[in-house]
Amino acid sequence: MAGEAPGAAQRDRDHASVTELFLKCARPLKQGGPCYFQSMEKVIIVGSGCAGLTAAIYAARANLSPLVLEGRQPGGQLSTTTLVENFPGFPEGIEGPQLILNMHAQAEKFGARFSYSEVTDFESRDDHIRVKVDDKWLETRSLIIASGAAARWLGLENEEKLVGHGLTSCATCDGAFYRNVPVCVIGGGDSAAEEALFLTRFASKVYLIHRRDKLRASKIMADRVLACEKIEPIWNTVVTRYIPDEKGEMSAVMLRDVETHEERELPVACVFVAIGHDPNTKAFEGKLETDPDGYLLARHLAESKHPGVFIAGDVSDRVYKQAVTAAGSGCAAAMEAEKYLSHLEK
Ligand code: NAP
Repeated sequence: MAGEAPGAAQRDRDHASVTELFLKCARPLKQGGPCYFQSMEKVIIVGSGCAGLTAAIYAARANLSPLVLEGRQPGGQLSTTTLVENFPGFPEGIEGPQLILNMHAQAEKFGARFSYSEVTDFESRDDHIRVKVDDKWLETRSLIIASGAAARWLGLENEEKLVGHGLTSCATCDGAFYRNVPVCVIGGGDSAAEEALFLTRFASKVYLIHRRDKLRASKIMADRVLACEKIEPIWNTVVTRYIPDEKGEMSAVMLRDVETHEERELPVACVFVAIGHDPNTKAFEGKLETDPDGYLLARHLAESKHPGVFIAGDVSDRVYKQAVTAAGSGCAAAMEAEKYLSHLEK
C-alpha cells in the first residue's frame, strides 16, 4: 500500500486478531481469582496502562505484592492502538494490546494482583492513604497514580448519543465495522495519523480533517499519511455539526473552512475523533496539586507533595506522552515507593 513503512505488508495482521487481543486486555478479573484485598496494602497502583503495569512489575519484583486497580480502560491507551514501532526491543514493532498483555503477564508472574475497579475518591492520612473503590475504602501505605488520560471530544450537539453510532475515538476498536464506506478522522497529531492509516484497511476513503494546514504528527507518520492515496487531508477545517440519519446513525458532518468560513456537508459513515487526551484526575481533584489543565504535578521526579503518593505516566506528562516514557516513569514511581516504604519500616 502506498505510503506504508517497509515490511508493513507482512505485519498487516487481520483486524480480528487485534480486536481479540483488545478484548482479552479488557477482560474483568473474576471474583475469587488471584485478587484479594489486604486490610492495609503496601502499594496500590491506580491504572493499568504502560506506566501502571511497569510500576506493578517493579513493585512486584520488590516483593510488595502491589494491588493494581485497572480502571475504566484496562490496558490504557496502548490497548486501543495498533502497531507500536518505537518501543525499544521490538525491531518489527509490536501490537499495542499484545505489549500490554505481555506486561500484565510479567507483573502477574511476580505477584501483582489486579482488580477491575475504578478509584472515585482519595484521602491522605498521616501514615497511610485511602482510596475509594466502588463505595469501599481501601487503605494503603503508598499509592502510585498512573491513571493515564482519556480521549477528548469536540463537545458538539448529540455527541454522547452518537458515540457507538458512527462516532468513536478508537479506530482499532471500530474501524472494521466501516468497510467500503467513507469515514473521517479529526485531528492532526500522531493519533490522528495512526488512526487514518489504520482505517485505510477498511474504508473506501479516509478524510483527515485538521484545523490547520500542517500536521502536528511526527515526520515519519505525517509523511506516510500524505503519501497514502486513500487519505485525503482537508486542511484549515473544523467540524461544526454531526449529521445523523433517521435511524440515529452518523451520515455526514458539517465542515467549516476556518479561513473562508464557507460551510459544506461531507457524507461519512463514521467519525473518528483523535484530538488528544485529558488526564484522568477526577478522583484527586482539589486534593492533589494539578496544573490548570488537570495534569498532576510532581514535587520531585515521581513524588507528589503528599508523603507516600507517587505519580507516573500520562496523568502528569504533558510533554512526551510516549509508551516508553510512561514505562520509565512507572519504574521510577515504584522505586520511590519502595524507598518510602523501607523508610517507614525503620
Ligand atoms: P496531540 O499531539 O495533542 O494532537 C492533537 C491534535 O488534535 C492536534 O493536531 C490538534 O490541533 C488537534 N486538536 C486539538 N483539539 C482540537 C479541537 N477541539 N478541534 C479540532 N482539532 C483539535 O495528541 P495525539 O495525537 O493524541 O498525541 C498525543 C501524544 O502521543 C503525542 O506526544 C504523540 O507523539 C504521542 N503518540 C505517538 C504515537 C506514535 O508514536 N505512533 C501514536 C499516538 C500518539 P493543533 O495541531 O492545531 O494543535
